Amino acid sequence: MALGKKPIGKVWFNGCFTLPERAVESAFIHTTHYGDGVFEGIRFYETEKKLPVVFRLQDHIERFFKSAESIYMQIPFSKREITTAVLETVMQSGLKSGYIRPVAYFGEGLGVDPKDCEVKVAIGVLDWPAYLGDKPTHVKIPSLMRIHPKAEDVEAKICGQYANSSRATRQVRLQYYDEALFLDYENFIAEGSGQNVFFVRDNTLLTPQRGAILLGITRDSLIKIAEDERIKVIEKKISLEEACAADEAFFCGTATEVAPIASITDKGNVQRKMKHEFGPITKKLKTMYSEIVRGKNPKYREWLHYIYLKSRELINV
Ligand code: PMP
Repeated sequence: MALGKKPIGKVWFNGCFTLPERAVESAFIHTTHYGDGVFEGIRFYETEKKLPVVFRLQDHIERFFKSAESIYMQIPFSKREITTAVLETVMQSGLKSGYIRPVAYFGEGLGVDPKDCEVKVAIGVLDWPAYLGDKPTHVKIPSLMRIHPKAEDVEAKICGQYANSSRATRQVRLQYYDEALFLDYENFIAEGSGQNVFFVRDNTLLTPQRGAILLGITRDSLIKIAEDERIKVIEKKISLEEACAADEAFFCGTATEVAPIASITDKGNVQRKMKHEFGPITKKLKTMYSEIVRGKNPKYREWLHYIYLKSRELINV
């Protein structure tokens, strides 16, 4: 029996709903062998009015198509069709809050060039609480570095790139740490296996600059929220020394949301505790983020896609 997370309800598979187990076709799927697929991770939340709301749906759809373009993949559906499919998948799942996973991949056919492979799209909805839980996390610098930005498009969510993430996560978890914190090819802090990272020093937020990281939608949201709260944000190259000397640190991402970092252990197993394991700025941003995604802060209404309204529209088309 599979122990990993599995979709709830049916899976949208190339335009039809099917049982998750039926969405598996063959052992000779191109993407299974070569990793040349793309995916997204999107969350929806229950609001006070009991209507589920999807956070920054359009931004996720845009990134999904941009990632596909990066690997020369033509998704055989329009952005609007995928948006509709995401909303319908959420509705049929019956969940009020959860995680949405669209994936596009090259179908059956071996040989590295995917040119003759059909592109397939599947969308599943999972009941997935915050990825790293609620307790402050202990992170470790893995022995492997984050993917070199000249080797891959690190700003795209390409399936194969997660072999780097998966390997690092397994490595540090075998040593009983919660998560990996990657260094980039220049030995600056990059990101987690599936999260961006922020540090707080003297009430200023520091986060790795664009270059060797995925430009997360949560990262972008938190930069905006912090600036609105008059918290200064600096995007820069951050050394491990600088990171360890920070007052606070936290991960952020769609699956992770906002997760405080309690300690950083380097490759030589020297552990450095953060001054605060769950500091005041982390707390403030985590609380604000949690309220915003649930529609409790009207200032950020434009980031929310209410499902009820859309579903009515959809029924009428
Ligand atoms: N970095 C990596 C490597 C990721 O996989 C993710 C998750 N998509 C993030 C950062 C955070 O991105 P987002 O906030 O868009 O989920």
